[in-house]
Amino acid sequence: MSALILSGKEVAAKVLADVKAKVADLREKTSAPPTLAVILVGEDPASQIYVRNKKRAADEVGITTRDYLFPQGCSQAELLETIAGINRDPAVHGILLQLPLPKGMDEDAAVAAIAPAKDADGLHPVNLGNLLGGKPGAVPCTPAGCIEILDHYAIPIEGAEAVVVGRSRLVGKPLAQLLLARNATVTMCHTRTRDLAAHCRRADILCVAAGRAGVVTGDMVREGVVVIDVGVNRLPTGKVTGDVDFASVAVKARAITPVPGGVGPMTIAMLMRNTYRAASRLLPPLPSGERAG
Ligand code: NAP
Repeated sequence: MSALILSGKEVAAKVLADVKAKVADLREKTSAPPTLAVILVGEDPASQIYVRNKKRAADEVGITTRDYLFPQGCSQAELLETIAGINRDPAVHGILLQLPLPKGMDEDAAVAAIAPAKDADGLHPVNLGNLLGGKPGAVPCTPAGCIEILDHYAIPIEGAEAVVVGRSRLVGKPLAQLLLARNATVTMCHTRTRDLAAHCRRADILCVAAGRAGVVTGDMVREGVVVIDVGVNRLPTGKVTGDVDFASVAVKARAITPVPGGVGPMTIAMLMRNTYRAASRLLPPLPSGERAG
């Protein structure tokens, strides 16, 4: 069997084109451009690259960004004060707090300080609670991107045996909730799972977000599985690879995401969608008849 390659790159381009059209429409009908505050603390090179890519995507879809850059060693109080100020600022509609924060800072407190209505990453406890409760709200970007890929390629979720490897707040847990909300039967695996292979072998849809290269190999999956590989690992050779051993799994899979070019591009696209949605809820429309200049 030769697996269908689930191109997140293509799906992300489609999502971004849709967001761009909607942003243009919103800019016509409202008084101010949709605006995303980008908060970066410290000088972590990987975070700097992620932030640069997110800002570039925002620019491409017509979302304005405002930078809030803090040096390594800034105080938690300073960060919280800035977030409170952005929360009050009616000209900002989305807030992206680039994680991880430097060691010693309280990430949970910082995320919880963001106004839920401006939470572009969907990680605020209120939004995570809404996800659990089946209520509308911002959804974490990477898991939302995984579902978007499945939908784009018309992979049926309802009734499927879905296995999620990894239970982080950022990926595994929200992804399991999204799959459950779509009526999959969901199993979550983690480092204390007794027989990972046995669970993976039952999967119709296997989502892997463990952060370990090669955690899933061909002997651990059944013929016809659909694989979403969230992992991003840099090998000592410098090569970037997923969590799934692509070569041995792809020969059995019906469809699989590549790394890079799979889930990665979706995260940014979904961030743009979340920001657009927040702006469309928060921006007051112009009085009838007026058009933005
Ligand atoms: P994380 O917070 O480190 O969580 C990893 C999870 O995987 C944990 O729940 C851990 O279990 C589980 N795990 C680790 N090794 C395992 C093993 N051998 N067997 C079974 N479960 C195992 O990582 P994360 O933030 O969720 O990220 C996961 C991966 O996705 C990373 O490679 C990250 O770089 C990537 N990622 C990619 C994107 C993207 O845009 N493409 C976005 C976010 C993350 P325990 O809970 O028991 O420790």
